[in-house]
Amino acid sequence: MKKTIMPAIFIGHGSPTNALENNKYTKAWQSVIQEIPKPKAILCLSAHWCVEETLISNLEQPQLIYDFYGFPDELYKVKYLVAGSPELAKQVKELLSPLVTVEYNNDWGIDHGAWVPIKWLFPEADIPIVQLSINYNKPARFHYEVGKALGKLREQGILIIASGNIVHNLNTISFDDGTEPYPWAIESDKIIADLIENKQHKKLLDFRNLGEAVNLAIPTPDHYLPLLYILGLQRDKEKLISFVDGIVFKSISMRSYLLK
Ligand code: ZN
Repeated sequence: MKKTIMPAIFIGHGSPTNALENNKYTKAWQSVIQEIPKPKAILCLSAHWCVEETLISNLEQPQLIYDFYGFPDELYKVKYLVAGSPELAKQVKELLSPLVTVEYNNDWGIDHGAWVPIKWLFPEADIPIVQLSINYNKPARFHYEVGKALGKLREQGILIIASGNIVHNLNTISFDDGTEPYPWAIESDKIIADLIENKQHKKLLDFRNLGEAVNLAIPTPDHYLPLLYILGLQRDKEKLISFVDGIVFKSISMRSYLLK
């Protein structure tokens, strides 16, 4: 019998306000779920849990955290009561032990990089969530190798969601309506998308050598690194399908991928 392999997704999450807005992006996140069988649990890698260690949450009942400042009050009132999965956390810890020591840690919680999109994907809040941190001390290849090692989980009904933005420069954003994206933002989004389409993983790992536009798109790698886990998960015959794209606030790419 052919094994069912759970797809995986990369979400360009953008602003926390996407938790409340019915827009092109949140609609696409809602629709992509039709391509995905109901998972047993979610393992999420969020750009907002970048720390200097590899940590994993293992509470039965994790808390949402509101890790953003200066947004409307109603965003801090969003609730999404969901279970965790200590078993999945244990399994990930064991699976990654040849690569890195993973420590249990519940000082963080489910951050907005995770809950903003997941709330749209699974509004019933009936799928347990575990978050694995992104170890900022490690080189690009490490994140790719961790992704590869996590691949086994896909055969057990686990959905891996990586959440970041392939172009993400907060120093240059503008909230003015109707402003066109920066040319370098459009250019870097295209460069990265083309490399993804052509499975140029080596070049994507060596992102600091992709030219000036890409360096402006990735001033710090926190929002780019989640993509590397999804590249690591990609199997020979699988495609990364860009299911929504667009640049918001002049310098944030919302491009999102389904790995299938
Ligand atoms: Zn973010």
